[in-house]
Amino acid sequence: MKLRLFFALWPGPELRDALAAAARPLLGACRGRRVPKRNYHLTLAFLGAVPAARLEELRAVTATVSAAPFQLLLDRHGHWPGPRVAWLGCRQFPGAAEALVAALWSALAPLGFQPDPRPFRPHLTVLRGCRACDWEGAITPVDWPVSDFALVRSDTLPTGPRYAVLESWPLQAPAGVEAFPG
Ligand code: ATP
Ligand code: MG
Repeated sequence: MKLRLFFALWPGPELRDALAAAARPLLGACRGRRVPKRNYHLTLAFLGAVPAARLEELRAVTATVSAAPFQLLLDRHGHWPGPRVAWLGCRQFPGAAEALVAALWSALAPLGFQPDPRPFRPHLTVLRGCRACDWEGAITPVDWPVSDFALVRSDTLPTGPRYAVLESWPLQAPAGVEAFPG
């Protein structure tokens, strides 16, 4: 049996509300299928179909990933006509977030996983089946303090994708960067 897997930043309930509120004017202005709030996520690394038997080694290498917490500021929106999605994103994706993605792929490489050759474009999809989106407003920026990341299973159902967080891992500043004790 294979599982369709990806690593993602998985917002907590309050943040989902804030993201939905920020997306509202965009969703009001553009046609498409709204992504349910419970499905909001930001994909870090897409693995695709993975044999279920490999899940344990995948969890084990992921536990070795060391990366610091960071703050995301979702302060822009965009639309891609190819995949027909509209999304929220960051003007400035933080270096620490890029470092987490790089650390994940380094840990996964020995298991044979490789990133898509296309450039990584972090985004949080809010609308699908969206052919055009010419809303020219600005979203209300949302601050997202990121302190963990998740391994997510994706199942495509007739009603749309269903995601399940299999495990999440905390982000921790590497030892030695704390201020000197008083
Ligand atoms: P659907 O069931 O309609 O495909 P989905 O695209 O949300 O829904 P998946 O295809 O399982 O579900 O993808 C899960 C997540 O990984 C999504 O955020 C998706 O954008 C992202 N993703 C899918 N394929 C890739 C890829 N080749 N490279 C990077 N990210 C991807
Ligand atoms: Mg897909």
